[in-house]
Amino acid sequence: MYMKTAKDIRDMFLAGKVSCRQIVDAYFKRIEEVDPQLEVFVTLNREDAMQRADALDEKRSRGESMGCLAGIPVVLKDNICTKGIKTTCSSRILEDFVPPYDAHVVECLDKADAVIIGKTNMDEFAMGSSTENSGLKITRNPWDTDRVPGGSSGGSAAAVAARMAPLALGSDTAGSVRQPAAFCGIMGLKPTYGRVSRYGVVAFASSMDQIGPMAMNAEDMAIMLSAIAAPDSRDSTCTDKEVPDYPGALEESLEGLSFGVPEEFFNTDGLSDEIRDGLDEARRVYERLGVKFKEVSLPHSRIDMEDGRISSFAVACYYVLCTAEAGSNLARFDGVRYGNRSQDALDMVDMYCKSRGENFGDEVRRRIMLGTHVLSSGYYDAYYLKAARVRRLIAEDFARAYKEVDLIFAPTTPTPAFKIGEKVDNPLELYLSDIFTSPCNLAGDCALSIPCGSSGDNLPIGLQLMGPKWQEQRLLSAANAYQKETDWHTRMPDL
Ligand code: GLN
Repeated sequence: MYMKTAKDIRDMFLAGKVSCRQIVDAYFKRIEEVDPQLEVFVTLNREDAMQRADALDEKRSRGESMGCLAGIPVVLKDNICTKGIKTTCSSRILEDFVPPYDAHVVECLDKADAVIIGKTNMDEFAMGSSTENSGLKITRNPWDTDRVPGGSSGGSAAAVAARMAPLALGSDTAGSVRQPAAFCGIMGLKPTYGRVSRYGVVAFASSMDQIGPMAMNAEDMAIMLSAIAAPDSRDSTCTDKEVPDYPGALEESLEGLSFGVPEEFFNTDGLSDEIRDGLDEARRVYERLGVKFKEVSLPHSRIDMEDGRISSFAVACYYVLCTAEAGSNLARFDGVRYGNRSQDALDMVDMYCKSRGENFGDEVRRRIMLGTHVLSSGYYDAYYLKAARVRRLIAEDFARAYKEVDLIFAPTTPTPAFKIGEKVDNPLELYLSDIFTSPCNLAGDCALSIPCGSSGDNLPIGLQLMGPKWQEQRLLSAANAYQKETDWHTRMPDL
């Protein structure tokens, strides 16, 4: 069962070949078998999922019409609020938090008749690129358990890669869906800012956060996206634009399409040879499919070398803006309304300080301090305002490029998955994981990571296709055409 795609599972369920209870049971067996090696789950939703499976079995037997995710097990990153199910953000400050309401995407999954089977580990409050910043545990990469699964949605990516769920949701503020998808050999989509409601997703950097689906292939991804892309008045940045028929658009031909190759992403020592080779191969596949390649320029996303060290405007700009937003967003975790309260405080101020000091991890504290600094009077103009301007320049570069080409062809990550512990002591190096992914969040556009090869160490490699706003269907049809010619998306780690 667990080897099947989400669509196959749904079709078998709808045809009455298997009950939802059998499906969900099979996945919990798989989880029992492989999760002890990987440590993906923060919470397993077993009882609830079983009850829901029975309810869906009854619904089907009554002959009622079923949703597009009928009977499909789904896992969620643990920053997506689930009514009655713990939502921790992998932080000690929210270790006991049980939300009184569902996120919009959870309501959508419910309507689509999916079954939520668990909540997955992540970097605390989605800050990180390896899931090592989790305040709860370390998740491992299913392809090599000495390596990180990427982050911050590392648990969700590892769950799909290890076939503990056919579909997952993560969140992507600067790459947190695409980068772990690339490290784990699955697909990850960051929708256009505003395509999916953020209502009920614990906010990190609100002007960039976006929920994204993770799946094994383009078809499953299209089904998942059509379930969660829906207007929602509770998120004022969520669009009421009509939702395209994503599954219906999958077969669109690529003949005559053009892909832009940003010279700044390829003419750099920041890109490893293995990733470069994987992308060259993918480019040949696309050329055979009739795609024309053309060089484009994204000058403000360029990657510089200074004294042998890599730097990037986009990464610098992202870290000023995201820390500023995080500093404000995380103010609510004060031990009063939200968050665990310190037990040995002397007075009110001491209570705030101790509750936050004891329960937030190092990276979260670092970002709150940085964010407070860049917004403080005297520094606001020099840091925050300047970064906001650079962001505009980055977005304009993309808009200009999309006048010349349909999509942009790029790497997702500079290297394949790195070793656990390799970068924990060097936050600046870890921040560079976002060099190819953060520009798209700053611009508010959409992007998709697709497995496209494997390194000498048998680690997956990801290709990133980026597109203009509201062009998810084109990203998905481009991925679908590629997956018909290749089999990278069907490969599975030995566990
Ligand atoms: N690496 C980025 C960060 O640490 C990823 C954030 C994200 O996309 N949630 O902020």
